[in-house]
Amino acid sequence: MTNKYMYFIANWKMFGGLNSIKSLNNVIRFLKSFKNNKYIKIIYCPPNTLIHTMVIKFKKSKIQVGAQNCHSHENYGAFTGFVNCNMLKSVGAKYVIIGHSENRFAGESDKLINHKIKSALKSGLKVIFCIGETLKQKRKKITKRVLEKQIKLGLNKIKIKDKKNLLIAYEPVWSIGTGLIASNKDLYEIIEFIKKKNKGYKILYGGSVNPKNIDSLKLIKNIDGFLVGGASQNSKKFIDIIKKTYN
Ligand code: PEP
Repeated sequence: MTNKYMYFIANWKMFGGLNSIKSLNNVIRFLKSFKNNKYIKIIYCPPNTLIHTMVIKFKKSKIQVGAQNCHSHENYGAFTGFVNCNMLKSVGAKYVIIGHSENRFAGESDKLINHKIKSALKSGLKVIFCIGETLKQKRKKITKRVLEKQIKLGLNKIKIKDKKNLLIAYEPVWSIGTGLIASNKDLYEIIEFIKKKNKGYKILYGGSVNPKNIDSLKLIKNIDGFLVGGASQNSKKFIDIIKKTYN
């Protein structure tokens, strides 16, 4: 691991209720006593129903809270079932995940993702922008082309000054929730490709990260952190991932 400063983002997806909040005590305690705590940034992205409760829970800790998606409109409006970025910010969210493959599959286009990113940045939220190729695209060997297009369209007309408020999470779709992971060599090469084409961005990796494979993943020198789905719902596993990254 070359980057001492690492992000650990917990994407709880559509899991968790009020009874899950207690387990966060372990993470708060761990972070307080962890000798490398000044280098790490932990961000929990629970379902919207838990954002405010988590913000209160983490009040005395440096753990931050984010949302998993947002509407593209900045203002209130007749959009049943949706929440805009200003509303997320008003309950204490600091980040929002945009462009997750599960939402791209549900129909989100690059154009809509671009609108959402602009709306989030305008409201003062930081963005965790997800990109990644499908298995079919990987097999066709068009991964780099796919990523380049997702970035070009997703970040269209995003101002240079906003770079510091935007993290890119490379999440191969075929790795999410499957236990399958690309080789370190491939991941290094793809992350280097993204970094060269998009200077100044932090690049995270996401896709089946767990306490077993982190020993190998942490050896990839150009990764700035991890976006963790399934394993982040278990505080012990999430803590192990962080600990092992620095071991
Ligand atoms: C995710 O959903 O962003 C993710 C990385 O999931 P998992 O870790 O479960 O593959």
